Amino acid sequence: MCRHAAWLGPARPLTTLISDPEHGLLRQSYAPRMQRYGMVNADGFGFGWYDGDRPVRYRRTVPIWADANVPGLAAAARSSCLIAAVRSATAGMPIEETATAPFADGPWLLSHNGRVRREALRPIVAGPGDARGPESICDSAWLASAVFTRLRAGLALAGALTAVVRAAAEGDPEARLNLLVTAGSHLAAVAWGDTLFTHLEEGVLVASEPLDDRPGWRPVPGRSLLLASPDGVSVTPID
Ligand code: GLN
Repeated sequence: MCRHAAWLGPARPLTTLISDPEHGLLRQSYAPRMQRYGMVNADGFGFGWYDGDRPVRYRRTVPIWADANVPGLAAAARSSCLIAAVRSATAGMPIEETATAPFADGPWLLSHNGRVRREALRPIVAGPGDARGPESICDSAWLASAVFTRLRAGLALAGALTAVVRAAAEGDPEARLNLLVTAGSHLAAVAWGDTLFTHLEEGVLVASEPLDDRPGWRPVPGRSLLLASPDGVSVTPID
């Protein structure tokens, strides 16, 4: 499973997720501590932040440690909503930027840790020829497309994520569906088949595994949905 992380709170630089904490995503790209599927996350990386309401995204297919632009970019990119991901491609999935999180549409940025059979998603993604269909054959791009379609139709993050996770799990009971979506003013995450942690401070950190050894990291129970906004954080089971 890939590793991902997000921040919602007072404006911070992207180094908050990547290189400031001892076990940030830079370290997790070659030495994750809780990863059960895959050993390293060297098949690409991506991150996103918000310039006002507008998301800005950067993604590459090289390991995050191999991109000499990252330290400067991550220090300069500051916002109240941040997302970052490092990738360990699932066998058979292409290594290309369009298969790399974060996926983007409108105000939303999305990352996925896990895998799902694409056949299970066929009923819920737009078909070939639809301009809004998945941008890659990667399963994560299919999931992103299914979520974005529902968000564009007007569903809130909770409704869109719950609908897609339920449909995907029904079609593929072995699916691992840890999803993370930012919307600038709020974010949502699903724990389904892999670990997810939060750390509450003057905002909230969400991460596949703790970014450091400070006390206060809390596991999110499996099969649940986390919602974070300036009003607080809630976790609810997905039946
Ligand atoms: N299945 C996705 C991919 O191939 C995510 C992989 C992962 O979580 N390791 O990119």
